[in-house]
Amino acid sequence: MPSRSGAPHRVVIVGAGFAGLFAAKALRRAPVDVTVIDRTNHHLFQPLLYQMATGILAEGDIAPSIRDILRRQRNATVILGEVVGIDPESRGLVVDTFGRRSDVAYDSLIIATGAEQSYFGHPEFAQFAPGMKTIDDALELRGRIFGAFELAEWEPDPEVRRAWLTFVVVGAGPTGVELAGQIAELAHRSLRDNFRRIDPTEARVVLLDAQHTVLPSFPESLQRRAARDLERVGVETYLGAMVTGIDELGLDTNSDDPRMRRIEAITKIWAAGVQGSPLGRIVAEATGAGVDRAGRVHVRSDLTLPGYPNVFVVGDLMSLDGLPGLAQVAIQSGRHAAKAIVLRLRGDTGERPFRYDDRGTLATISRFRAVATVGRIRASGFTAWLLWLAVHLVALTGFKNRVAVLFNWTVAFLGRGRQQRTITAQQVFARQSLDSDADHIRIPGSHRTSSQPATDQPLPTRRTTS
Ligand SMILES: Cc1cc2nc3c(=O)[nH]c(=O)nc-3n(C[C@H](O)[C@H](O)[C@H](O)COP(=O)(O)OP(=O)(O)OC[C@H]3O[C@@H](n4cnc5c(N)ncnc54)[C@H](O)[C@@H]3O)c2cc1C
Repeated sequence: MPSRSGAPHRVVIVGAGFAGLFAAKALRRAPVDVTVIDRTNHHLFQPLLYQMATGILAEGDIAPSIRDILRRQRNATVILGEVVGIDPESRGLVVDTFGRRSDVAYDSLIIATGAEQSYFGHPEFAQFAPGMKTIDDALELRGRIFGAFELAEWEPDPEVRRAWLTFVVVGAGPTGVELAGQIAELAHRSLRDNFRRIDPTEARVVLLDAQHTVLPSFPESLQRRAARDLERVGVETYLGAMVTGIDELGLDTNSDDPRMRRIEAITKIWAAGVQGSPLGRIVAEATGAGVDRAGRVHVRSDLTLPGYPNVFVVGDLMSLDGLPGLAQVAIQSGRHAAKAIVLRLRGDTGERPFRYDDRGTLATISRFRAVATVGRIRASGFTAWLLWLAVHLVALTGFKNRVAVLFNWTVAFLGRGRQQRTITAQQVFARQSLDSDADHIRIPGSHRTSSQPATDQPLPTRRTTS
C-alpha cells in the first residue's frame, strides 16, 4: 500500500473516542503519518458521563484534551473539525471546522465516529428528555437535575413542586440504571440538609423500560439482583411500558397500570437507544456499503468496507456479528485496524478477521452496589463495586485524571459531598434558554416568567450559581 504522494503512508483516523484513540496509539511506532480528526477537542470517557451529570466528577476528569494525550506521539497530528464528506475514489475527506471547509487526503482511513442517541423515530422527545452522549448533554442534565431541586424549593404550588421533584429515566440498560441510582443517592443522601422548604428525600426517581427486565445484557441472576438493589436505593422501576409521548410537564406511556399511563415529571432523561453517527450513512452511500437498522455500517470480517480494503469502520459505528456497543469492542477493533495497516505496509497482505475478546461487563447501581460478569464469574454487591472502581480507574486516560477522579470518588462515596454542583441558568433551562431571551424564560409548570418571581427569592440568572 504505497502512499500515492510518495511521502510516508497517510493514515487518517476520524473520531478520537475509544476506537480512534487506541488506533492512533497503536500506530505510534509505525512509519506512517497519523492524522486524528475529531469534532471536539477532547477524548470522552463516556461510561462516567452519568457521574458528571450528577455532580460527582468534573468535565476535565473524564474528557482530557486529544492534543495533550498525543503530544509525545511525533507522527500524530490532531485536527479539530467534523468530517462531512468523503470521496473514496480520490481518497479525500471534507472537514468542517466551525464553518471553514478543508480537504484532507488519506492512504488508509479508519472511521470511528461512534453512535448518537436514538429516539426511535420520535426526535421531538429530545427537547424534553435529553440523552447522555456528550459533555454538553451531561452539563445540561446536571443543570436540569440540580436546577429541579432549586426550583422545587422556590415553587409554592404543591403539585408543580411534586413534578419538579420527580425524575424519570427512560431505558433500563447500564446507563439508565446507573443514572437512576445516582439521582436517588443524590436526593436521599447527598442533598440532605441543603434545603429549607423542601425535603429532597421525598424526590421520586422512576426508571422505565419497554423491555421486561433491567440490564437485559446481563445474566438473569444479576438482573434480579440489580432490580432489588434499585428498589433498596429508592428507585421505582416500571418495565414493559413504552413511552408514547413526552411534553414539558411529564410523559405518557402505554402501561397496563393506569397510574403509570401519565407521569408528571419535569426532568426526563432518555437513555433508551443509540444509532450510528450520521457519517456512517454518508460513508455507506459513497462506498455502497450497507447499514443496519440502527445506521451502523456493515463491515467485512477484517473491519474493512467491501471494495475498499483501505477503509476501516470500527467501534460503535461498525455492524459485525451483533457485537455490542462497548468500550472494549471499540478499543480492540481500533487496535485491529491499526495492526492490519502496519502488517500490510510490511508486505503481509493476508486477511485477518477481527476476533473480540470478551472481558466481561460491569454496571453500578449506587455506592457500594454493582453487578459484574468476568468470564464465568458473576459478582454483585460490594465486591462488584470494588471491581467496577478498579476497572474504571485503570481505564481512565492520564495519571492526573486518575488522581482527580479518586479524590472526587472519596468525597462522594465515603463522605456525602458532590464537588461538581456548579450550574448555570442556560443549563437549567437548556434548549429553551438558547432560543429565547433570558428575561422571558418560561419556567415549566408556571405561568410566571423570570421577571415576575412568586417569592422574594431570586430566580437563577445567566450568571453561574452553585
Ligand atoms: C452514557 C454512556 C455510558 C456507557 N457505559 C459503558 C460502560 O459502562 N462500559 C462499556 O464498555 N461501554 C459503555 N458505553 C459505551 C462506550 O462508551 C462506547 O462503546 C464507546 O465509547 C465507543 O467508542 P467509539 O470510539 O466507537 O465511539 P465514541 O467513543 O462515541 O467516539 C466517537 C468520536 O467521534 C467523534 N465524531 C463523531 N462524528 C464525527 C465527525 N463527523 N467528524 C469528526 N469527529 C466525529 C466524536 O466527537 C467522538 O469523539 C457507554 C456509553 C455511554 C454513552
